[in-house]
Amino acid sequence: MSVPAGYVVGGGVAGIAAAFAMRDRGWSVELLEGHHHLGGRAFTLPDREGLPHADNGPHVILGCYQRFRELLRRIGSEDGFLQPRSLGLAYSDPGGRITRLQLPRGPAPVGFGLAILRLAALGLGERLRALRGLTGVLLGARQGESFEEWLSRRGQTDRVRDVLWDPMCRAIMNCEARHADARLFVATLRRAFLGSGAHAAMWIPRRGWSELIGTPARAALEEAGVKVRTGCRVVGLERDGERVTALRLADGQRLVVGVGEAVVLAVPWHGLAKLRGDDGSVARASGLQGSPIVSVYFESAAHPTIPLDPVVALVGRDGPYHFLCRRAGAPADRFAVLSGGGAGLVGLDPGSLVAAARDQLVAHFPAAEEVLRAAPTRLAKESRATIVADPGAATRRPAPGYLPGCANLAVCGDWTDVGLPSTLEGAAESGFRVVDALLA
Ligand SMILES: Cc1cc2nc3c(=O)[nH]c(=O)nc-3n(C[C@H](O)[C@H](O)[C@H](O)COP(=O)(O)OP(=O)(O)OC[C@H]3O[C@@H](n4cnc5c(N)ncnc54)[C@H](O)[C@@H]3O)c2cc1C
Repeated sequence: MSVPAGYVVGGGVAGIAAAFAMRDRGWSVELLEGHHHLGGRAFTLPDREGLPHADNGPHVILGCYQRFRELLRRIGSEDGFLQPRSLGLAYSDPGGRITRLQLPRGPAPVGFGLAILRLAALGLGERLRALRGLTGVLLGARQGESFEEWLSRRGQTDRVRDVLWDPMCRAIMNCEARHADARLFVATLRRAFLGSGAHAAMWIPRRGWSELIGTPARAALEEAGVKVRTGCRVVGLERDGERVTALRLADGQRLVVGVGEAVVLAVPWHGLAKLRGDDGSVARASGLQGSPIVSVYFESAAHPTIPLDPVVALVGRDGPYHFLCRRAGAPADRFAVLSGGGAGLVGLDPGSLVAAARDQLVAHFPAAEEVLRAAPTRLAKESRATIVADPGAATRRPAPGYLPGCANLAVCGDWTDVGLPSTLEGAAESGFRVVDALLA
């Protein structure tokens, strides 16, 4: 009996998961990645003298990201994260007031309720409103509803939004509440808050993302028998009717796709049209909007007023940055500030982006002005870090699997529809799931 064979194009989280899953089902697999490293949108920037060591932006995951954690175990990286037993999040108001949300250990719904009742950043009436919002998570969201509409329906005030909901929405959906599909956001919250407290915990990386994903994934894939080719950009597909017959590579090579062989495109939504040509489903997917993440890494910026928590939400609507993040175990003087879904930042020049980060930090930690103004920085700008998973995006996201009219061409990636926003968990889930479609 001949062994089924396939190509996976794209070595991000989705492509890595797909390659493992295909190999596990007995396929012979070749993974083709355009860059010289695996890991896709989660990677470490090359070292540059005098600049802080940095990833392309801080990433965190939740304890409930089961499929992504499965992938981490597979490549031996799960211990590369600080794994708290429950959620802890610090808040900074402009002027320097720090408050904390800390879920006690135990069942998350009870713990979250207790943590909100103790949340000093909110007045008593606001805490009760927040609890009302929390019960709304149990009830779910309506189809086509934005998270902003959901918040209004649940009577959430501006302050409750600023402190509780907006930071969570930015962290999970990477966009403003008015753009977020409430169903996807609430679905993630339910995974996080309807189980043990550990599901809601934020896992903080101890190492750079290339060390966590790209490098170990390559070794584990090769050990599993996947042929990995990096620096190998696919620039076109040759087709015969519904079947892809060859892949054209940037260096002029042509890889024949034999009868019975499949191609899985694990590339971002905006890379699809270039490969696939014009097609209804591709045009729809290409219409998805990207959402940016801008990060500024600081070094030599320790000050007693700047908290050492791994994630601090910068509360308020004035500044363009939303979080201060630290790698677990990093020295006190190293951190990054991150703007998630701040579309207004994308057009700014690098100097203005860094200046805005310094100004906002000074507004939050005025006593640290001197060190913040003098600290060396490094900027990481990703214009299309994720898709904007708004209610309208639902019709543009195909499920992972064969595209209509394609006999041997399938897609996966964080932009495909697995009932989740565009996250590492969604990417891993789509990669594992696409294989079910290949077999069907
Ligand atoms: C700065 C930043 C911060 C983020 N923070 C978080 C976070 O905290 N938590 C979270 O869950 N998610 C976060 N995300 C989102 C997360 O990184 C993505 O959802 C996930 O990595 C997407 O994986 P993917 O495999 O679907 O796509 P990608 O990672 O984009 O992988 C696609 C791969 O295909 C390759 N490719 C494209 N075209 C071709 C071609 N023609 N030939 C060959 N190869 C090709 C690309 O080079 C790439 O390696 C963040 C993203 C960014 C950018």
